[in-house]
Amino acid sequence: MEIQRKVKYEEELDRQFLGLVKELSGCEEIDRCIQCGTCSSSCPMSVYMDYPPRKIIAMIKNGFKEEALKSFTIWLCPSCYTCQVRCPANIKITDVMYALKRMAIGERVYPARFAIPVLDKEMSKIIASNGRNSELWLILNLYLKSRKPWGLLKMAPLGLKLMKTGRMSLKKESIKNKEQLRTLLKALKEEA
Ligand code: SF4
Ligand code: SF4
Repeated sequence: MEIQRKVKYEEELDRQFLGLVKELSGCEEIDRCIQCGTCSSSCPMSVYMDYPPRKIIAMIKNGFKEEALKSFTIWLCPSCYTCQVRCPANIKITDVMYALKRMAIGERVYPARFAIPVLDKEMSKIIASNGRNSELWLILNLYLKSRKPWGLLKMAPLGLKLMKTGRMSLKKESIKNKEQLRTLLKALKEEA
């Protein structure tokens, strides 16, 4: 049996990580965290998370980049803002979760075959290209790219019903002025 090492040596920590995160919008005050645990005890999703919010903040402060970015926690957070409004240090924890999601997508280190990051990525791609979401294409891409094609078979009867009643279509929805959208997205990218 392979013995798995669970400790991390000092030299393996990423000491630049805190600085990188602090540069992102909403994350500037992260090192004011006093590790009180109010966020974790208030979080309705913490029972499902691999690391509760308090631990995620501690991991950022201490250079556990890989663990923070690969965690399921950031993808399980549905942005309810409870932690953020209750934090005594006024840390924008929900914004930190968003920042980590963006970083994980940018570095392609989200949990393998976990559907939520794939869903986020595919939906952003469709909206960036057409200005509107197309549910059918989103679902197709989601199942294929998270490598769970059999899920499509299970969803097929519901999909067909929705198509018959006109609630879902093969046709991609699109806005008229896509050029304006591209200019807007380009400006946002340059500002980031
Ligand atoms: S509630 Fe705020 S101060 Fe307390 S552990 Fe969470 S982030 Fe840190
Ligand atoms: S915003 Fe996310 S991390 Fe904060 S309490 Fe809600 S689910 Fe938990």
